[in-house]
Order: sequence, then structure tokens, then C-alpha cells
Amino acid sequence: MTPAEARRLLEEGNRRFCERRPEYAGIRETPQPPFAVVLGCIDARVPPELVFDQGLNDMFVARVAGNVLSDDILGSLELACTAGGCKIVVIMGHTDCAAIRTACAGTASGHVVSLFHKLAPAIQEAGGGATCDPQDAALVRRIAEIHTRRVVAEIRGRSAVLRELQVAGTIAIVGALYDVDTGSVVFAEER
Ligand SMILES: [Zn+2]
Repeated sequence: MTPAEARRLLEEGNRRFCERRPEYAGIRETPQPPFAVVLGCIDARVPPELVFDQGLNDMFVARVAGNVLSDDILGSLELACTAGGCKIVVIMGHTDCAAIRTACAGTASGHVVSLFHKLAPAIQEAGGGATCDPQDAALVRRIAEIHTRRVVAEIRGRSAVLRELQVAGTIAIVGALYDVDTGSVVFAEER
């Protein structure tokens, strides 16, 4: 399977999800090795296996609020592509992300502080900062898109393993945005 074929499987699965005609509710009759790894948000509306209509053992999934990167997540993505043989790494943000909205509001305590610290550059780039309105849906969406793009760039910058696999054409690393209202996933242009 090529990275383009892996992406097409995800796009076709998301189309089935949007059209409410899922095929993979559980174990496949003919099992196949996992082909994709997704880093997504913990938001209860965004489970990647459902959103992409994939069955058991089809994809690896890492989820953390705001789909932020960490060393352990990066190691997990590397494992999924080396030992796991995945052909595509998807960083999936989503609209109406509560993590982004709360980060915009500037209210954080405990371990949330360090998590929101990782969202701050995207908020700044979107022109948010101190004047950021957490109820501004368009702004929150734009921040999600920018943050997703930044995470893709960060992966390429920090992981020599994944960068080399991508340069060799073995894997694709791509951002995506899930719309919680329509259920559709729009992939960013690959760069
Ligand atoms: Zn979220």
C-alpha cells in the first residue's frame, strides 16, 4: 500500500461515515495490518476509528487534548510507522475544540497549564493572544488549522525517523480538520 492509497482509504471511510452507511463495526472477516496512525483530540465527538469508519486493527490512534505533541506521542508515531508499518500519519484537529477555546480564555491550572502552553503559538499566529474570543467559532477553527499545520512541521523537524520515511516516499505526514457539525474530514495540502 502507498501513502496515497492509505489516504484514499481514510477519505472513503469518512465518506461512509458522513453518509451514515458504516461498514466496519468490529473485526474484519479478512484482517489486514494497520495502515494509518492518527493523532487526534480527546474530544468525545471525534473518535478516529468511527470518523474514518475503520475496523479493529486498521489504525493506531493517539489522543490527547488539543492534539498536542510530546516525546511519548512522537515515539508512538515512530513505532506505528516502523514496527507497525503504517503508511500515513494524520494529525487531526477539529472545529469547536474545547481545549483551544479554554486556552483562548486563558483559564488554566494544574497540568493543563503546560498543555495549553503548546497551543499558545497557534493562538498567537491566528491573531488571538490577549484579545482572543473563545466564542469566535471562525477564530477557534483557524487556530485548530494553524495548530495542526504546526504539529505536522514539528514532527518533521523533531523526528529524523519520520522525516526520512517521508522523504523516501514510504509514508505521508498530513494535517486534517474534522468538522463536528458535518462529520467531514478535510485533509490539508501535503507539503
Ligand atoms: Zn478538541
